[in-house]
Amino acid sequence: MIKYAVCEDAIVEKICDKAGRGSAIQLKYASAAFGKSHDFSGRYQKMLNNYIVAQADGSKNARIGSYDPEFHYYRVIAMHGDVPNDNGDMFRWGNVDKPEEPELLRWDETLGKNVYQTFVGRGNFKNHQNDDVSKAVGVILDVVPNFDGRFIEALVAVDNKKDPDLVRSIDKGYVKAVSMGARVAYSLCSICGHIAKTESEYCAHVKNSKGGKIYHEGAFRDVYEDNRQVNFIELSWVTVPADRYALMLEKVARRGRANEAEVLEAVGLISEKFGEDRAAAVIREIAASVRS
Ligand SMILES: [Zn+2]
Repeated sequence: MIKYAVCEDAIVEKICDKAGRGSAIQLKYASAAFGKSHDFSGRYQKMLNNYIVAQADGSKNARIGSYDPEFHYYRVIAMHGDVPNDNGDMFRWGNVDKPEEPELLRWDETLGKNVYQTFVGRGNFKNHQNDDVSKAVGVILDVVPNFDGRFIEALVAVDNKKDPDLVRSIDKGYVKAVSMGARVAYSLCSICGHIAKTESEYCAHVKNSKGGKIYHEGAFRDVYEDNRQVNFIELSWVTVPADRYALMLEKVARRGRANEAEVLEAVGLISEKFGEDRAAAVIREIAASVRS
């Protein structure tokens, strides 16, 4: 199953009119279309490779190998754990010390990484137009879990050369939300625990009331899918997010407007929350690149 956190503009009216809110939205595409979803060519792959090399270096003074002024860098909340979004999709946060527990922090043997780390290297798109890699407007460089807020924070490089209008819209605040896209192996119904691998296997709760509430065993309960064996495939800029709090945190740096206070504030904010983690180190390096 492919999940998206967003009500796409085109279908918001239709679905939301019926249910009064963004319920029961599940977009699906042929999985074959995603086979090469992170097979970037040229600049995106180069930026990602250099970033990975710089991180593997381990030196605190190592810079991102290829700070590229044609990209703009943004910190965003990619998605939240343990909270059903408006579409009725929920992704469990999990426990990093108990890898058998689901889901976002779970170590996946097959993938060789934590589930949330599947964001890294995936494309950044607009409104989930991810059927063609040529439509990517950027790349996800890194992710870090925020344990206090139980959300996954991402560092996204957006291609200003390719889509200056988007960058302008983000900077002016017209576009300030993101929405994840994920491949999901199966889900459990929040009401009855029924396991479904495809939409045709949905129980009546999910089929009829996903994203809403139903009266069940003496109380009104949220109906949502508890998604498992998740593999994130992309992150899109959107105007109508399903996760209402998946928002841009701040722009990390901007060439030609190297506002030191702004950059330092970003670094301080991250350091305060996460300590000396990778994201903080990375953003410090970007800041250094910009200032120099
Ligand atoms: Zn059910």
